[in-house]
Amino acid sequence: MDAINLQQQVIKAAKEKGILPQIPEISKIPIPAIHKIEWDLTFRCNDRCKHCVTDSGPERKEFTTFSDAIKIIDNIAEHTLLKRVRDYFKDVEFCFKPPAKLKELENLENPPKELTDKLSRDYLDCLHGKNYDTTIKYNNTSKKISFGRPHIRLSGGEFFMWPYRSDNKILSYKKRLEKQSELLKEIRKKLPDYDIWILTNGRFATSQEKADEVIRCWTKNASPIDEQGKVRICISIDPFHKPPSSSTIEEMLSRIWKSCKKFNISSPFFYGIPGREIYYAGRAFSTMKTGDLKNFKDISGSKFNPINNYCVATNDLSNTGCNEVTGFSVKIDNNSMVLVNNINISPDGHLAFCCAQVGDYGDFVNDPVNTLRMLIAHPIAFMLRKKEFVVSFLNLVVEMDPTIKAYGVRRNAAVGSTCYQLLTGKRN
Ligand code: SF4
Repeated sequence: MDAINLQQQVIKAAKEKGILPQIPEISKIPIPAIHKIEWDLTFRCNDRCKHCVTDSGPERKEFTTFSDAIKIIDNIAEHTLLKRVRDYFKDVEFCFKPPAKLKELENLENPPKELTDKLSRDYLDCLHGKNYDTTIKYNNTSKKISFGRPHIRLSGGEFFMWPYRSDNKILSYKKRLEKQSELLKEIRKKLPDYDIWILTNGRFATSQEKADEVIRCWTKNASPIDEQGKVRICISIDPFHKPPSSSTIEEMLSRIWKSCKKFNISSPFFYGIPGREIYYAGRAFSTMKTGDLKNFKDISGSKFNPINNYCVATNDLSNTGCNEVTGFSVKIDNNSMVLVNNINISPDGHLAFCCAQVGDYGDFVNDPVNTLRMLIAHPIAFMLRKKEFVVSFLNLVVEMDPTIKAYGVRRNAAVGSTCYQLLTGKRN
C-alpha cells in the first residue's frame, strides 16, 4: 500500500473504531492566524549530512519558485495574528521587549570559544522567539500578552542554494544571491514586524570576500525599518557538518562573524543539536540506528562543538501528543478568540506537519484559507496532537501495515517514529 492509500485507510478505520472524533465541516472552522513560520525554500544543499532531518543534499532538486515565494509572503501577510488583532482593534500597538539573553548574544564582540550545552539552549530559545515581554496597547490601556516575537526562519536545505533554477536554467550563485536579496526585501516590506532568521551551514564563506558578498546581499534589503523586525544569521554547527573547501570551521565562523559586524547586524547565532538528541527521521532514519551514538566520525574537524555522545531517538508522542502540529488560542476580548498556528512550509509551497517537512495540509500558495483550516481539521494531525488518541491511533497504524517498525515498548509499542513511517512511506 502506498503512503497516501495507507493514510486514507487508517483514517477510515480510525473513524470506524471511534478513535477519530467528529471534526466540524471545514467551511465552519475559523481560519487560524499565523504567528511563526519555518520555511524550507529548497531541499538542495551543498552538504549531505548523515543526520539531516529534511534529507537534503546536492542531488535534491525541489525548490519554491520565485513567483510562488512572493505569493507565499502575500498569503502570510494576509493571515498573521498581528494583522488579525490590528483589524479588530483598529488602533493598536505591539511592543516586543526582547529577553536580556538575546541582547547579550546579539551584541557579543567575539565568537564564543565553543558551543556549550547551555549556550546551545540559549541560542535555541532566542531562535524560537521565547521569553519576550510582550505588551499590546489600545484605547489608552495596555495589556501583557503571551505570544513571543513573530518571526520567519528561512531554512532548508541550504538557503544559499535557493533558487536552484529559473526559466529552466540552472542559476549561478550570483543570480541566486540577487533572488535571495529580492525575497528578503519583499519579506521586510510585507512583514515589517517580523524577525528574519537565515539558517545556514555557512559553507558559502570560502573566503572573506565571499562571506562579505553573501552577507551584504542578505542584509541590505532586510534591515529593520524603524527598529522593527531584525535580520539575523544562524549557523548550524555540529560534528556532522563539513567545513567549506580549503577552510576550517573556525575560519568560516570568523569570516561570517566579521561580515556581520561589517554590515552592522547582530553577531551570528549558532545552532547545535538540541539536547544532543538526533531525531529519528529524515536521513538519520536510513543512516543511523536508534540508541546511543558514541563512536561516530566527527567530520567537522572542529573543536567548536566538542561533543562525543548523542542519542538517536524515536519520537515518543505518548505523553503530550505531537507538539509540532499544535497551535494556541488568543482571547482578544470577552466574545472573541483567535486560533493561532505556527506553520512549516515545504519547497512545494504546501504546509507540512513538522520541521521534517512530512505530512500535507494542502497548497498554501493557491488556497491559503482552506490550507490554514486544515491545520485544525486534518484527521491525522488531529489524532497525533491529542494525547488521548495518539497511542491508539499509532497502534492501529502498525496493525494495518505490519511493515512499519514499532520501536516503543508495552503501551507505547506503536509510538516510536511511526508517524514518520506513516506519512512518508519510508521503512527500514
Ligand atoms: S547542511 Fe543542513 S540542510 Fe544541508 S544536509 Fe546538512 S543538515 Fe541538511
